[in-house]
Amino acid sequence: MLRRTLLLSPLSLAAQQAKELRITGLKTELKINPPREPNYDAIHKLGVDAGSVTLRLETNAGITGYATSTFGMVKGGPKVVQTILEEELRPLLLGEDPAFPKRIRAKLWRELEYHGVGGVVHFAISAADIAIWDILGKHAGMPVWKMLGAYRDRMPCYSMCGWYYDNDSDLSKYKRSIEQALSHGYKAIKMKTGRYSMADDERRIKIALDLCPRVMIDANQVFNRNEALRRGRLYQQMGAFWYEEPLPPHDMEGYTELARELDIRIATGENLYTKYAFADLIARKGADVVQPDNRRAGGVTEWLEIAALADAAGLELASHGGGSANMNMLLTMPNAIYMETGGPQKNMVNGEILAPQAPGMSTETA
Ligand SMILES: [Mg+2]
Repeated sequence: MLRRTLLLSPLSLAAQQAKELRITGLKTELKINPPREPNYDAIHKLGVDAGSVTLRLETNAGITGYATSTFGMVKGGPKVVQTILEEELRPLLLGEDPAFPKRIRAKLWRELEYHGVGGVVHFAISAADIAIWDILGKHAGMPVWKMLGAYRDRMPCYSMCGWYYDNDSDLSKYKRSIEQALSHGYKAIKMKTGRYSMADDERRIKIALDLCPRVMIDANQVFNRNEALRRGRLYQQMGAFWYEEPLPPHDMEGYTELARELDIRIATGENLYTKYAFADLIARKGADVVQPDNRRAGGVTEWLEIAALADAAGLELASHGGGSANMNMLLTMPNAIYMETGGPQKNMVNGEILAPQAPGMSTETA
């Protein structure tokens, strides 16, 4: 082998180097969605200023990697992520070999940490990592879930359909949206709680459970510790499957107390950034279901490390949000229990979504 390398002529060495993958271009596209009728969780109004940024990383091999960061409610957010990608990440990524995602992650963290060790900076870093894995999968001719080593080829999913709506005091819109999800083939649904009184929560949960036996509950950080426990006891007694984000994400000690007090699964993680935050949450025994968000947590590379930490601690794993990026990662993890989705899904059989078969992350059309 050594002999062969030594015998390579300068010309063939150059040819070999030319064959190495390199990132040669970065393009972004900003999309602001037209406003639609809003829906609400406990603290957010969604649907009126949503948008997304799509990142395209080009290579010398003619392969392009894609990643899209969607934003449910921040008009300025996508523009900031686009600026970080265009002005900060472009010079750092051009010329890099995408076969080194961990080295690239270290470089991006080092160069960008003054702008944020979390927040929108990490949306940009995550997008770069997802696009890089899309390149690697396409280059290898394999879907990334197979490249990484798969555990399953289909993923149970649930529909986030139980929202709050304007002019819905009789809860007919709420009920209809759950019925619609079940008619699309879902076997599990998620509903929002905590916007109004505990009696209102109880009314909504009863409607949901009468329609579907598997109901997840999401409080979107609205409670303090005392109220989180009081409402959690009700959700538990009514038979909900998990209790998501009862507290602000920073209140790790509060999560520990709640997970100790309640038997219902505590689910959280969509607002945490990097494996360090998850390591803290897991060490404090603050969650039963760990929910990293692929746009925030750090892309495929970081997400899988978080998933492995959860697995080693005997915890269940679920995605925040759906789409092919989440599918490619969830399919590799033995502790993954659910992918979050919304509306009707192609390739759903018996409440499970079948694995994407295209090489890469299938993020080109996501
Ligand atoms: Mg949530």
